[in-house]
Amino acid sequence: MSKRTSLRAAVGLLTLWFVCVASSAAAMPAGMVGPWDAVQQVSESQYRTYQVTIQDMGLGLYGGPAYDQGYRNRYNTGGSATASLGFQEATLYLTDQFDAMGLDVSTQGDYANVVGELTGTETPENIFIVAGHYDHPQADFTAPGGDDNASGTAGVLEAARVLSPYRFESTIRFIAFGGEEGWMLGAKDYLSKVVQPNNENVVGMLNMDMILRPGWDSDPNAVIDLDVSTGASPACQAWASKYMIAGATYAPSLVFDSRNPQTDDWYPGDQGPFIELGYPGLMIAENNAQEIWYLGAHDYYHTAGDATDRGANDPDNGSGVVYDYPFATDVVRTTVGMIAEEARIVPEPGTSVMLLGAVAGMIALTRRRRR
Ligand SMILES: [Zn+2]
Repeated sequence: MSKRTSLRAAVGLLTLWFVCVASSAAAMPAGMVGPWDAVQQVSESQYRTYQVTIQDMGLGLYGGPAYDQGYRNRYNTGGSATASLGFQEATLYLTDQFDAMGLDVSTQGDYANVVGELTGTETPENIFIVAGHYDHPQADFTAPGGDDNASGTAGVLEAARVLSPYRFESTIRFIAFGGEEGWMLGAKDYLSKVVQPNNENVVGMLNMDMILRPGWDSDPNAVIDLDVSTGASPACQAWASKYMIAGATYAPSLVFDSRNPQTDDWYPGDQGPFIELGYPGLMIAENNAQEIWYLGAHDYYHTAGDATDRGANDPDNGSGVVYDYPFATDVVRTTVGMIAEEARIVPEPGTSVMLLGAVAGMIALTRRRRR
């Protein structure tokens, strides 16, 4: 090939490449290129709709009269056979939502874990889990669990809603676990029946459990911050660090507890059985377990007052601490941003096709010049 033809070929190739990239960019809808674009679609009002809907399960507002048990509650700690109508109505709702998002949906195991999968395109064997439990204890039949854990379940739904239109190199599973209040029964069931027998590679899991009512009841002046608890292993610590970096990137207004990542009480939550088996997991919550159980951080924990229209969200409740939707939305943004990064969001389908076309064009041009 002479110098002159090779120069002409180079100009031709460059032009072709430019046209291809420019046309693919033009064809690419705005907001289809990376984690930040997914994060921007997280909606506070949509999150709130999910949270209120789940909190109100048991009245038949979604499933109809067959699910009206006369009060709001979602207990199923005795297994699916004794699951309350409220829990069953929530199972139906979650299944329908995941299905409408185009996810591969299944209801798994003895505690009706609802699983929505977005299968990876390049490395489907690498699995990321976004979780939250949707059951509530039987202790108080009239406890709606607005914060514990309609808040985290709504976070899973909103993350699934904004991530599901994209493709990812690795697999993402959105899981609403049942039986958590019976000591993580649904998560244990899932690990023993799905993850372990299939020797699955769970790269990491994020568990949102009580993300709507930050602040310390007994101290109204406490810092509004997010607690991240995890195991002491290097893998858990690295996983937690990534979450806090994602928070700083995608939800800069979100404040993290200065003690994070906390390792004192990493077990009580669906992340516990995962961490125990060596899978990196995080408890993402408005307070740590000690604060919620023993230090008065949640007056309405597991009571009839934990609802949007009850004491937990009443500005006159004495502590002044109420549901904080912007806070929960920031938590979801952080989760979405981190998962989009870790599972590796694939650029708009048109881009790779166009680039392949450009490469093919370059090869064809080069060959023609050679003859
Ligand atoms: Zn909980």
